Amino acid sequence: MFKRILIANRGEIAVRIIRAASEMDIETVAVFSDADRLALHTRLADYAYHIGLSPSQESYLVIDRILDAAQKSGAEAIHPGYGFLAENADFARAVADAGLTFIGPPPQAIEDMGLKTRAREIMIAAGVPVTPGTESAIDPGPEAAKIAEQVGYPVLIKAASGGGGKGMRVVETPDDLIKAMESASREAASAFNNPQIYIEKYLEGPRHIEVQLLADQYGHTIHLNERECSIQRRHQKVVEEAPSPVITPDLRAQIGAAAIKAARACGYYNAGTVEFLLDRNKNFYFIEMNTRLQVEHPVTEMTTGIDLVKEQFKIAAGEKLTIQQEDVTIHGHAIECRVYAEDPLNNFYPSTGMVKYLHPPAGPGIRNDSGIYEGGEISIYYDPLISKLVAWGRDRSEAIVRMRRALQEYHITGVRSNIPFCLLVVEHPKFIEGDFDTHFISDHFRIEDMAPGPVDKEKIAAIAAVLAYHAKPAASVSASQPQNDGVSPWLSSGRRLGLRTR
Ligand code: ADP
Repeated sequence: MFKRILIANRGEIAVRIIRAASEMDIETVAVFSDADRLALHTRLADYAYHIGLSPSQESYLVIDRILDAAQKSGAEAIHPGYGFLAENADFARAVADAGLTFIGPPPQAIEDMGLKTRAREIMIAAGVPVTPGTESAIDPGPEAAKIAEQVGYPVLIKAASGGGGKGMRVVETPDDLIKAMESASREAASAFNNPQIYIEKYLEGPRHIEVQLLADQYGHTIHLNERECSIQRRHQKVVEEAPSPVITPDLRAQIGAAAIKAARACGYYNAGTVEFLLDRNKNFYFIEMNTRLQVEHPVTEMTTGIDLVKEQFKIAAGEKLTIQQEDVTIHGHAIECRVYAEDPLNNFYPSTGMVKYLHPPAGPGIRNDSGIYEGGEISIYYDPLISKLVAWGRDRSEAIVRMRRALQEYHITGVRSNIPFCLLVVEHPKFIEGDFDTHFISDHFRIEDMAPGPVDKEKIAAIAAVLAYHAKPAASVSASQPQNDGVSPWLSSGRRLGLRTR
């Protein structure tokens, strides 16, 4: 096993990786930008190297600086986390060329799966069901119009190098096709430096189901069940859970087998995720493969008892995967909320600044993966994720109740958060029933409606009295009590804030 590894990332995922390494007696090397001098990952690692200015293009994305820090620190391997350089095949190659181990898949698999058109070609050849559409990239023109007609409207234009929901266009009628293709291609060229686009059938009301995989370097590949990630805003996941409320053991075996086939088709090893869409008739279609650890991996860990990061280390070090498919079971249910520093009352605009008061939830069944602390900064330079709050229960109902309790307990001031919005989601009757698809948020919430509700004068007076009491310099009040900065922790529940659902 490695003696020392470098983590080419920051925030909660760097902290998560440090924790796994420390439990395995592996020393950790953090890298940090100017903005992250005092960040939690910088403090928790055994060693920390400064790699540049705050913007990630000047630090976390600069391959040479990271390799330089690895050489200087004597790290033997590099874990890329997710985001930044995690799915950059050139980085994976550069790590190997520097004589170090990349804790992730082979560079060729990263490259092949990074291009969605190439991934589709490989999956079609391997017999993995993909969404109907063009096999490869296609230019705006008569051939595209013919295919869109065959596939049937509505269709979805996607960028070959796409990610983060960018460069996607839903086209309802033939008249709009060419224009939409041209604008998607322009957006793709500027966002991904690749104007290539392709056409997929736009599935009506699908569910997003993804399968977690582990594969060693000797051809042993297993799946660790599915995650349901249909609660999305603008095609980005907000709440994830495992297992999916709609996947039967039979369907799980089928979709798991398809995911393993997908991994084998691209020569995959280490941890990876195959994403599928499930239509209303329970047909599933491959949409993409993520060649890294996913943000939402904790819900799989909580329900299988397998530490994915530790398995990543072992696989990268050349060990055999000792877990057999039949060893993988499902124990209870887990739900994750992505808690962001963003203002649900202001169109989810990022809310950056110093975290003045922080009371994260704890107690039975709660896991809170975070990279911040009281007094720390949520900076303008990076994703404003505060934490990934995970609730485990013996069944889905208990997980929901625990999540609700944890969200109510979660108090943060100094920045605004989407906690009230997460509460509305997990308290929604359709969510509780498990009756939802990827349109859940747009169907049930009008973001523009999320203005503060009618003022409850009695409640405001009570809150004002409590705040006035705590503002007194009385000896009985501890220094860490929150100050009234306009974001009172007593106002963290969605209903109390006056957020409304449709
Ligand atoms: P990205 O890589 O940009 O995140 P994905 O291909 O992973 O894009 O898709 C993100 C989300 O977009 C999916 O979870 C789903 O909600 C929606 N989506 C993608 N493809 C389709 C499709 N063919 N039909 C309907 N919705 C889709």
